[in-house]
Amino acid sequence: MNMQIENLVRQNIRNLEPYSCARNEFQGEASVFLDANENPLNAPYNRYPDPLQEALKEKIACLKQVDKRRIFLGNGSDEPIDLVVRIFCEPGVDNIVAIDPTYGMYKVCADINNVEYRPVALNADYSLDAQRLLAATDSCTKLIFLCSPNNPSGNLLASDEMLKVVEGFNGIVVIDEAYIDFADTTSFLSMLDRYPNMIVLQTFSKAWGMAAIRMGMAFASPEIIELFNKVKYPYNINYLAQEFVSNALNKQSEARKCETVKMLLAQREWLKEELGKLSCVQTIYPSDANFLLVKVDNSNALYTYLITCGVVVRNRHKLLLCGNCLRITVGIPEENRALIKAIEAYAKQ
Ligand SMILES: *Cc1c(COP(=O)(O)O)cnc(C)c1O
Repeated sequence: MNMQIENLVRQNIRNLEPYSCARNEFQGEASVFLDANENPLNAPYNRYPDPLQEALKEKIACLKQVDKRRIFLGNGSDEPIDLVVRIFCEPGVDNIVAIDPTYGMYKVCADINNVEYRPVALNADYSLDAQRLLAATDSCTKLIFLCSPNNPSGNLLASDEMLKVVEGFNGIVVIDEAYIDFADTTSFLSMLDRYPNMIVLQTFSKAWGMAAIRMGMAFASPEIIELFNKVKYPYNINYLAQEFVSNALNKQSEARKCETVKMLLAQREWLKEELGKLSCVQTIYPSDANFLLVKVDNSNALYTYLITCGVVVRNRHKLLLCGNCLRITVGIPEENRALIKAIEAYAKQ
């Protein structure tokens, strides 16, 4: 498809003269820095951090085998989700189409920006119907959000259906791959250069175990990345976060991440087996992520009971296709045993 990304961008963003911070205006080598009103003492924390996180992006480019100019780093994936809405969607005019049920932040960002949000039901088994999704779009639809593996259902969406959406839509398709490290599949990253309207989101919050650090990644065409850079806060990733993730990206931590994923997948299978023995459990949905969506006899009652046992899960009862469903994150063996014990006690009351 021959698509001009520029034509999808809001007029005010196209015309925007971005803030130029001191670190942007001067990038060469110098020994005396008197340009940013920083404190000369307390190194290295006195200096503003690299606004474009070049050193960290080089490591991520290597890790993901992606051109550095195709990487944006955000304060969690939530930052690029918000940016994409603000860059492409004219408040009160444009709209966003997304699968339902899915991650709640897409709708919250749309609502905050006064952009219409159009949820489109997945099939009963949480699979994607590309045709139904595309039918909900119109000439004011700028964005489609897909999440695979999907939260809260846990399943991968079929990649051929996802490609039908990417190829059949005259706008931006965001593919949220927060749980991709747990899934037995390949990322859409490898298809980035074929689809200039595709944005892939990944994060350090899940498989990498760094949710506290707040580091999300968006991968897209250099043109879209430039738009992100134009609109973001100048110093959106602080020095400590850049240093921490940079130091964590080595062969040893990569191996540790793989071990953790393996352990969690084995625990997920153990949980599935144990949950299947409990009479209050009606359905355990197939999962490609680090959590299980489970339909029980009464999710409100079980949720409340578990809290009295000190065990917190997520009650997804109110979401479409999730009646009486709990979303249970896979923990370490001891935590998973505590969960099963608590549900057994609930069944015995
Ligand atoms: C957890 C999660 C994220 C990660 O968000 P961060 O802001 O990077 O912590 C993104 N998308 C989905 C669907 C998630 O479940």
